[in-house]
Amino acid sequence: MGIDAQLDPTRPHPARRYNYWLGGKDNFQADRDAGDAIANVFPSIRTAARENRAFMQRAVRHLAGEAGIRQFLDIGTGLPTANNVHDVAQGIAPESRVVYVDNDPLVLSHARALLTSSDEGATAYIDADVREPGKILADPAVTGTLDWSQPIALLLVAILHFVEDHEDPRGIVKTLVDALPAGSYLVLSHATFDPLDGETIAAMNAVNEKIKPRFSPRPRAGVLPFFDGLELLDPGLVSVQEWRPESESRPTDAEATGYGAVARVG
Ligand code: SAH
Repeated sequence: MGIDAQLDPTRPHPARRYNYWLGGKDNFQADRDAGDAIANVFPSIRTAARENRAFMQRAVRHLAGEAGIRQFLDIGTGLPTANNVHDVAQGIAPESRVVYVDNDPLVLSHARALLTSSDEGATAYIDADVREPGKILADPAVTGTLDWSQPIALLLVAILHFVEDHEDPRGIVKTLVDALPAGSYLVLSHATFDPLDGETIAAMNAVNEKIKPRFSPRPRAGVLPFFDGLELLDPGLVSVQEWRPESESRPTDAEATGYGAVARVG
């Protein structure tokens, strides 16, 4: 099936909806309608999207900087906007190598924008599904672009809430993490309803009934096990805006509604 056949503008899609909340232009009416339906019951969704993005960027800056990581596998890339993983990493270390993975045909059609690597580094993009981790790990672009004898940062940022419990998200993370060389890192963020009041949760659940893929926010106790066996960096698993913040004025947990952490693979 070609890109155009898969790119159905009448069906809302998470990458395009997220792009809309971030103020991007790569979205269709169906995405804006779905985005507005959520924003109507949860007005701070745009703040949540921005804070999640900012968490990812602070985490990559830390890894490319202090931690000295030069390889990144970013699964659930999203539509390219300012400061994608390779922009941030290569801004610090131009030799950084980044492989992007997403299953949205619109992200695929923008892949060229993700492939503007520095001369010293490399970027690659593959169209694949996180629910098939074995396929991702075996992909020639993944095995060829990254040196699997050196540490790799695996990014699963705002993607696992699109994987339902029956699809075994913990097993998926374990398969990916087990493949990483020693000294690697996991960067993970995840939507939650923990800080929301009952009325907002009920309204969000009602909207969720109509959404595909089903949105699966998880409580803290449901996110923490993704880091089983790994060593969480300070400050641990926290609301995304509280992970090594760089600004005094920050939204509340109820506005950010997402957990994030960075962990080291032993
Ligand atoms: N990580 C980026 C984008 C998050 S939006 C950021 O935090 O800024 C979530 C992304 O995950 C979207 O681009 C969506 O297309 C992708 N995604 C959702 N389900 C997926 C799946 N099963 N396999 C691969 N990508 C998926």
